[in-house]
Amino acid sequence: MAPLAIRARGLTLDYRGSSEIVRALAAVDLDVPQGAHVALIGPSGSGKSSLVAVLAGRLAPSAGRVEIGGRVARIHQDLRLVPSASALRNVLHGCLARVSLAKSLRFPSAERQRAEDLLRRVGLGHRLHAPVKTLSGGEAQRVAIARALMQDPDILLADEPVASLDPANAAAIMALLDELRRERGLTLVTVLHDVALAQAHADTIVRLQSGHVLATTPGAGQAALAPPLPAASLPPRLPPNATFLALTAAAVALSWGVMAGAPATFDGAFAEALKFLARLVPTPAQLGEIPWAELGRSLVDTLRMAVLGTVLATVFALPLAALAARNIVPPWLGWPVRAALNLWRSVPSIVWALLFVAAVGLGAMAGVLGLVAYSVGYLTKFFYEAFEGAETSAAGALAELGASGPKRFVHAVWPVALPALAGAILFMLEYNVRAASVLGIVGAGGIGHDLKLAVDWSNWHVVGAILALLALAVIAVDAFSAWARARIG
Ligand code: ADP
Ligand code: MG
Repeated sequence: MAPLAIRARGLTLDYRGSSEIVRALAAVDLDVPQGAHVALIGPSGSGKSSLVAVLAGRLAPSAGRVEIGGRVARIHQDLRLVPSASALRNVLHGCLARVSLAKSLRFPSAERQRAEDLLRRVGLGHRLHAPVKTLSGGEAQRVAIARALMQDPDILLADEPVASLDPANAAAIMALLDELRRERGLTLVTVLHDVALAQAHADTIVRLQSGHVLATTPGAGQAALAPPLPAASLPPRLPPNATFLALTAAAVALSWGVMAGAPATFDGAFAEALKFLARLVPTPAQLGEIPWAELGRSLVDTLRMAVLGTVLATVFALPLAALAARNIVPPWLGWPVRAALNLWRSVPSIVWALLFVAAVGLGAMAGVLGLVAYSVGYLTKFFYEAFEGAETSAAGALAELGASGPKRFVHAVWPVALPALAGAILFMLEYNVRAASVLGIVGAGGIGHDLKLAVDWSNWHVVGAILALLALAVIAVDAFSAWARARIG
């Protein structure tokens, strides 16, 4: 018999919760010869993943001991890949333990070559540069296998590698694991749900129940192919959502009642408002009097203020957000930064503009500084929330692959946070275009100044023209923003 790759005796694992202790493994003995394939099966909660975590060295057993003869790589059931990164990059993450942070920004060409070869080997040579989120379940599983192989393992632990795949893909992945085992002399420990698959591919089947080994039976190894399984049936169609229909009907009835009961005095006010609105529309004669060139320049100034304010605020907010994010800095640093930001955000943009008009005088400079001060408070909050939200299981998986804190940030947190960061910047730009157009009212430059003058002089047709220009600018910026968002998503 081949020497053992894994020898476990009396493994016991207790999870200590706040109130109770869960015994996930109870005196488990396990022998896995080198080059063998052992399949763990058993109902949900029987301790399969816990056993895998102990074998991977990620959980220390409460009692018993485990001897591992070789380098171990684990494939998580939920894969823990970085969705926005390409297949190739995800596989390269497998070598983060042996590549420095600086080198990992482009990865050495020898490592790139290896990663490409591995992806070709698992049948993904045509999708090297595809973001993982665009891959099918079976393809993503292949990327995860390639990433594990990038660590040069002797022992591969695969937790439910086919649980989320259809039968055809499941059979293909199992066949791939068989081939890799033969080619590389890998020792395989898999967690499988399907007894037939375990029977067909594993040499030994270990059945767990409530943390105990219930039975150990021989399997057919690679001798047989998985029998075809019946295709899963489609879920039934949902009936039309009755609650939604009822709520809509109630809302319509309620609005109708309110309108019908409105006091008669509203009629007079409504007519007045209409007359006023009519004055905003320039007559053909007034159209020529409107200083279009001057208004156009003011509008461009306004947009410039908004863009410059947003860009500068982004530059300040990024490092501040890093100082506030719970997954980047310790609590004693993050907490005061977040508290200060809460106070900072309570100041409205128009008040900031007033303060800066007092400090640096009338004009666009005061407007830009006002927007920067206001936007920094919000952008920092959006950014640190994005960093914290990007602390996915993928970042944890990279830590397990041996990546240091900064490497995790660069390869798993930053790329995941990027769309949220870009979305926040676009939102701020939309806000700042609107804010910049009124800051002129307090003397902070831009078209708001023209608006205030026109109102002071009761030049209603000019007011109408300015409002129309602002509407066009806002629509244009929102359209740009929607276009940009569609490209980031
Ligand atoms: P399986 O993979 O077979 O479904 P697990 O190893 O995940 O089983 O879980 C075994 C038992 O340990 C279950 O009762 C589960 O609820 C419990 N358990 C798993 N992980 C934890 C944890 N982090 N904290 C507390 N209990 C846990
Ligand atoms: Mg599990």
